[in-house]
Amino acid sequence: MRRGKIFIVSGPSGVGKSTVLKALLEKRPDLYFSVSATTREPRHGEIDGVHYHFLNVDTFREWIAKDEFLEYAEYVGNFYGTPKKYVDLAMNKGRDVILDIEIQGAIQVCGKRSDAVRIFIAPPSWPELERRLTERGTDSPEKIQKRLLRAKVEFQTAYTYDYFVINDSVENAVEELDAIMTAEHCKPKERMEIINSR
Ligand code: ADP
Ligand code: 5GP
Repeated sequence: MRRGKIFIVSGPSGVGKSTVLKALLEKRPDLYFSVSATTREPRHGEIDGVHYHFLNVDTFREWIAKDEFLEYAEYVGNFYGTPKKYVDLAMNKGRDVILDIEIQGAIQVCGKRSDAVRIFIAPPSWPELERRLTERGTDSPEKIQKRLLRAKVEFQTAYTYDYFVINDSVENAVEELDAIMTAEHCKPKERMEIINSR
């Protein structure tokens, strides 16, 4: 049986990662979306254990001490981390894993799992990113400015990623992500291993 792959999706806050990944999961129900832990407050409609594991800072530090994270990072004043256990369980079952994580976390994962595939999701323009962040209505104007500043820094690292997807329409972005995942499973090494195992 094939082993699953890790697909890292990064991109500015508000670009539409959650929206696009939700639609991708409908198209590829076998994908495993890794639920991160965070110390930030839940937004309206966010459910503990579904969108994030919402932890206080002490518990987050305990998880770090117990080596529970594949990676973790600080982002605009809060901690975020990927619990390791479920990622490995899913991969061992042959499922592809999606990590929606920022750039510091992406670097850590690639240091540990060199075959992880990195995909950067960008907005069609900067004014459109600001419009999406404002329209989402979940962050104060001050937080939006912090996230936009951070986005400009993150954008400079995009050339280190394997793929670059522009989220102009959700449909297009999903189609490209789907195509990337299919192509990544057509590499000679994986295909030859399948043939040789028969
Ligand atoms: P992220 O997870 O990257 O922070 P979200 O998925 O929460 O971003 O999306 C931010 C806002 O942008 C939401 O209000 C969402 O409905 C909207 N959005 C997402 N993708 C698109 C798109 N392709 N076109 C227009 N609006 C979008
Ligand atoms: P938000 O607060 O908008 O949900 O997420 C803020 C940022 O944190 C986004 O860039 C998102 O990709 C990132 N993020 C979410 N979960 C994790 C995680 O487990 N690890 C890291 N490093 N970043 C994460």
